[in-house]
This record gives sequence, structure tokens and C-alpha cells, in this order.
Amino acid sequence: MRNNIREFYFPAAVKEAVGLMTKLKSKAMIVAGGTRPPGDVPSSVETVIDITDLPLRHLQADKGWLRIGALCTLEELEKSALLKSWARGVIAQTAGFGTTALARSMGTVGGNVVRPHPYNNLPPLFLALDALAVCAHDGGEETVPFGDILKPDIMRRFGHSWLLTELRVPAHTKGWAAVSTRLGATKSDWKGYANCVVAADVHGGVCRKAAVAVSAMLPRATRMAKAETLLAGAAADEAAAREAEAAVLVELEALTGKSPAKAHAVRTAGVLARRALLQAFSSGR
Ligand SMILES: Cc1cc2nc3c(=O)[nH]c(=O)nc-3n(C[C@H](O)[C@H](O)[C@H](O)COP(=O)(O)OP(=O)(O)OC[C@H]3O[C@@H](n4cnc5c(N)ncnc54)[C@H](O)[C@@H]3O)c2cc1C
Repeated sequence: MRNNIREFYFPAAVKEAVGLMTKLKSKAMIVAGGTRPPGDVPSSVETVIDITDLPLRHLQADKGWLRIGALCTLEELEKSALLKSWARGVIAQTAGFGTTALARSMGTVGGNVVRPHPYNNLPPLFLALDALAVCAHDGGEETVPFGDILKPDIMRRFGHSWLLTELRVPAHTKGWAAVSTRLGATKSDWKGYANCVVAADVHGGVCRKAAVAVSAMLPRATRMAKAETLLAGAAADEAAAREAEAAVLVELEALTGKSPAKAHAVRTAGVLARRALLQAFSSGR
């Protein structure tokens, strides 16, 4: 199908990009790394707003937050020395799951989380790390819990009236024991059965708090509340990991309506959660 694109803009400031987006509405399309374009460019689109010149490529930590600019590529995350030392390197590890060099070198954090395919690797990661999302719009700036941007009504705003500018990960997660796992038919298969990220605050053999986030077999990345409740204050040991696995199974069976088509993925997610917890517990000692 022929498209109707006639103009390209390369805004240099967030305000300019938001202004263009708000003015042109459905006549414009935002592109960051450009690895996840819509299948067919809608015929209403006449303008491409390429945001790669915006100053949103920062990776820095201060007293309160780890700040990740929305235009950082997966490769920049994977190679960052700062991220390799954050929460046992879980952010660098997860970015490295990107299955092709193209997706890692061009794909951005923003593009990965604002229009996420259920298989995308970064949403469960930032959900488990209690991240916040900083979003620019016509009225200024808004900071919302990461989980909110995965909700369809908020997700729809991105690229139309909202621009993601930064993800903020709380500084206290730096010392957490976190592990990211995924299983697909092959290592290069982006559409895996299950992605699971656990992040645990372990001290003196006790798991003070744990986050367990699962994706791939669900429409969007989801925290496993039952498992997290069981883990809070429990001994960081195999028994706790097995109890959490059972709780993940119960929760995922409910969320997938015990669909036979999802049964294998659900079991896989439980096993991944247990293994990730055991690894996190042993690295947190
Ligand atoms: C061959 C191939 C393999 C892939 N493998 C993986 C993989 O293993 N794991 C994985 O997670 N993903 C994978 N992907 C998907 C994709 O590459 C990543 O999700 C990537 O991070 C998308 O980022 P992008 O900058 O290219 O997004 P773009 O294509 O530029 O944008 C995607 C959408 O998000 C909107 N958008 C982008 N940035 C912003 C922003 N800052 N604010 C508001 N809206 C924005 C755009 O309007 C657009 O609609 C793969 C893709 C391909 C083509």
C-alpha cells in the first residue's frame, strides 16, 4: 500500500515535538528507533516526527533515582557500566535479551515500553523495579507509576498527545537482588513462552520485599501479587521459592482462564519465577 507521507520533522526539543504532535494529531506519526512501525502506515499520516535528535539519551544516577532517557537504545543499556552495577545488573541483562543486533542497536527504551508487544522484554523489568514514567504533553509534564502506562487508555496517548521522556528507577533498588529470565522455543525466538523478572530486597537470609513480574502469555506485563505477599518477610530459601511458584501458577491460571493453549506458558512462568528467586536469594546473601 502506498503511504501519504510528505514531510519529515526532526525536532530538537521536547516542547517542539509535543507541539507538533498536538497540532498535527492523526496526520503525524512519531518514530524513535523505527524498529516497530505500524504494519501499514495509516492513510491519514502525512508527517513523520523523528524524535531521535531530542536530548533524551541520558543514563545517570542521583540520590533519589536512576534516570534512563527514553531514547537510550537497548544496546546502550546492555553496555552501560552504571547499569551493570544496578540490582545485580538486571537492566543490562534484560536489554541483552533483544534477539537481533538491529533491535538492540536501534530500538529504544521508549519504543519498547509505550507500544509494547506482550513479548517485549523491558515492561516486566521496569514493573518489577517500581519505576516511574515521566511523560511530556501539551500541559507540561506528568510522572506516573510504570504500571499505569501499560493500561490501554494511557498507552493510547503515547505518540498522539504524550511523549515518554524518562524512566526513573528508585535509588533504593540499586542493592536489590534481581534476575531476569525468559524461555522461548529457541534463544533467538523473540516470541517466548514466558518472561519473568524478580527483584528482591534480601537481608540476613530474609526476603524483606520481593517483586515478581510476568509477561508474554498475558496481554501486558503483570505483577504477581499473591506470590509477593507470601515472599514478604519469608526466609529467603527454596521452600519460599516453591511456595511462590505455586502462587504464580494459581494467579496465572486465573488470569488466563485456565486456557489449555496457555497451560504450558503458565507452567513455564512458574518454573522461571522459582529459579529466578533461588538465584536472587543466593546472590543476595
Ligand atoms: C527483527 C526484530 C526483532 C525484535 N526483537 C525484539 C526482542 O527480542 N525484544 C524486544 O523487546 N523487542 C524486540 N523487537 C521490537 C522492537 O525492536 C523493540 O521493542 C524496540 O525497543 C522498539 O523501539 P523503537 O525505538 O524502534 O520504536 P519505534 O518503532 O520508533 O516506535 C514504536 C512506537 O512507539 C511510539 N514511540 C516511540 N518512542 C516514543 C516516545 N518516547 N514517546 C511516545 N511514543 C513513542 C512510536 O510512535 C511508535 O508508534 C524486535 C523488532 C524487530 C524488527
